Amino acid sequence: MGMMTGEEYVESMRRMNLQVYMFGKKIDNPVDDPILRPSLNSVKATYDLAQDPEFEDLMTAASSFTGEKVNRFLHIHQSTEDLMKKVKMQRMLGQQTAACFQRCVGMDAFNAVFSTTYEVDKKYGTDYYNNFVEYAKYCQENDFTVDGAMTDPKGDRGLAPHEQEDPDMFLRVVERRADGIVVRGAKAHQTGVINSQEIIVMPTISMGPDDKDYAVSFAVPTDAEGIIMIIGRQSCDTRKMEGTELDVGNSEFGGVEALVVFNDVFVPNDRIFLNGEVEFAGMLVERFAGYHRQSYGGCKVGVGDVLIGAAALAADYNGCAKASHIKDKLIEMMHLNETLYCCGIACSAEGAPTEAGNYIIDLLLANVCKQNVTRFPYEIGRLAEDIAGGIMVTAPSEADLRGEITGPYVEKYMIGRKGVTVENRLRILRLIENLCLGTAAVGYRTESMHGAGSPQAQRIMISRQSNLPMKKEFAKKIAKISE
Ligand code: SF4
Ligand code: FE
Repeated sequence: MGMMTGEEYVESMRRMNLQVYMFGKKIDNPVDDPILRPSLNSVKATYDLAQDPEFEDLMTAASSFTGEKVNRFLHIHQSTEDLMKKVKMQRMLGQQTAACFQRCVGMDAFNAVFSTTYEVDKKYGTDYYNNFVEYAKYCQENDFTVDGAMTDPKGDRGLAPHEQEDPDMFLRVVERRADGIVVRGAKAHQTGVINSQEIIVMPTISMGPDDKDYAVSFAVPTDAEGIIMIIGRQSCDTRKMEGTELDVGNSEFGGVEALVVFNDVFVPNDRIFLNGEVEFAGMLVERFAGYHRQSYGGCKVGVGDVLIGAAALAADYNGCAKASHIKDKLIEMMHLNETLYCCGIACSAEGAPTEAGNYIIDLLLANVCKQNVTRFPYEIGRLAEDIAGGIMVTAPSEADLRGEITGPYVEKYMIGRKGVTVENRLRILRLIENLCLGTAAVGYRTESMHGAGSPQAQRIMISRQSNLPMKKEFAKKIAKISE
């Protein structure tokens, strides 16, 4: 059917029979739910912008399987240029939505599974690569949004999957049948899963020989029997139910995460990409995490652009745009933000082909990228709050701005520089609040810390990839040390 318009995407989600729960109730129509709809709009933007000639070069690519034009979120990277375009696309989408647009996890899973299955087949003579290629073509043809599911609940973090008291703490195979497998477990904080038609499941850590049942990767539709999604709360989420656009800060776009339960879900043989080949679990994790750590050098930078712009407007509306310390703080924010972008571009430019032929980022630089992302958005947010002033968290509501008794007082005392309306001043303050403390803070702050792996995960990779012995040799040579 080829690429979908944004509207066709929304209609396709309406046809899904998802089992979504929120606030203890089943949500029969997630597409039109006021709390969930902004997250769908963010994904819709990945369809709308792919139709826009201005963004065609970033948003689309020629399929490596068919040559047809496909959405870049479903593309298998063919060059370092593809890797860089991916980052540029993510920055642009961050600028357009100021939210998590969710579709990257599928793209990152696509590229990690593509190369890993090739290497598993080479060693074991399995058919996973072929399974995946057929699946990837099917997703491209239908222009699906695909969720990439990695993080297990993990139970006791000091125990391996097979050592857990409750064996379901890591997703596992509970039954092997002639026509497929049955899986049980859960995947935590799944970005965009309720806005996806398909889900690719991967293991979450390297595994040993006793973890065979846990070394599993596969794809199923998100409305497969046995899948239940429980929406994660976001700070200020119920503001979206109040019908006040101003107080929400970003009323059109948002992100969403859910706990996804796999309650004995059947996976047919042709959708299995790993099944017991434990030594490849680590490769799949490392590659997916590497791609997603690269991703943050794009999306968080785009959202950062919006936050920097909002801080500059807040200063302007307050009448202090010319103060030297404000200018300096904005420069610092831009410096930090562009540093993240440098990392995203650098790990892409230094990418290389895998054995399967698709391109992978430089893993060391991608991990450095994400390590910086665990820090810089916090500093950018701190500076934005500094510039905005305490009013970003104490300003009256939109209802009080419009209130018969309160309105005139809000108008009189919330004024800033001459020529700027109180409403516009409040709008920009609410946007900063949304990004630093509200619903978008999930994506811009805490996800910067923990998404694509917590800081320690990157530090382990940095220590593994940095070649410290070689650095010692450099030092010895210069110091003329012979041992
Ligand atoms: Fe994409 Fe960023 Fe959201 Fe991950 S956090 S899915 S990279 S927008
Ligand atoms: Fe993420």
